[in-house]
Amino acid sequence: MNLRQALENAREVLRDKKIEDASLEGEILLRYVLGINRAQLFSQLEFTLDSEQEKALEKALERRLSGEPTAYITGHREFYGLDFIVDCRVLIPRPESELLVEKAIELAGKRKITTIADIGTGSGAIAVSLAVNLPGVIIYAVDISAPALDVAAKNCQKYKITDKVLLLQGDLLEPLMEPVDMIIANLPYVKTSDLKEQMTLGFEPSLALNGGEDGLDVIRTICNHAGEKLKPKGCLLMEIGQGQAECVTVLLNKMFPRALVKLNYDLSGIERIVSLCLT
Ligand code: GLN
Repeated sequence: MNLRQALENAREVLRDKKIEDASLEGEILLRYVLGINRAQLFSQLEFTLDSEQEKALEKALERRLSGEPTAYITGHREFYGLDFIVDCRVLIPRPESELLVEKAIELAGKRKITTIADIGTGSGAIAVSLAVNLPGVIIYAVDISAPALDVAAKNCQKYKITDKVLLLQGDLLEPLMEPVDMIIANLPYVKTSDLKEQMTLGFEPSLALNGGEDGLDVIRTICNHAGEKLKPKGCLLMEIGQGQAECVTVLLNKMFPRALVKLNYDLSGIERIVSLCLT
């Protein structure tokens, strides 16, 4: 079997099982098995796979068909133009969360921001993206899960920013020793009753997704305590789920009557980022 046939075959197997993005995922899995990049794949389509490579591809496809996300099979996921190491100890970074990073960088261009706390950092995708794009800013990356912080540490080492990102283990804002200019957070916000619809359940850590009965348990806690950990003129940026905007904005307006609360929508038109800026 040559690469062209292997690629077609992988895509077809995934498409048959109704895997979304079968075409892209088939290509990623094939490249992963062969350890080659996109350009190498498409310039060597006549290259013949040996039996070991064929077996490895078959095994990767089997894992994918069992429901395991491609990012866990390859151990990598792209986020904000960077490559992140991921495994089942962390949530796989989502494209929607890039909007959080974008908004944070935008705000950092308008306000004086020297310290940021990324709460629930997981793989560290948000913290590392900010550290790479905002030189001079110190980032506290907090997670309650020590295993998740091991993954974040690997990503900090990969991008050589261990002096700018300080990893702290603990619950939400508790490990922060002093107030910061910005708090950014992609916390669990899926309703417990919706968790079973989560395609990746059983693979991704439910601790990173489960937001309790209405999905807002953890977000409510951070809103209630943000005032204690934000400097004057500080900002809070949070990712939220569909249908949660009203509840969160009402709560923030109540807690911070003089602050500016704004919503941003993702590419599917779903309210996704809520920002609070103290004035
Ligand atoms: N957007 C994620 C999902 O639905 C949820 C992430 C989260 O709870 N922070 O898969």
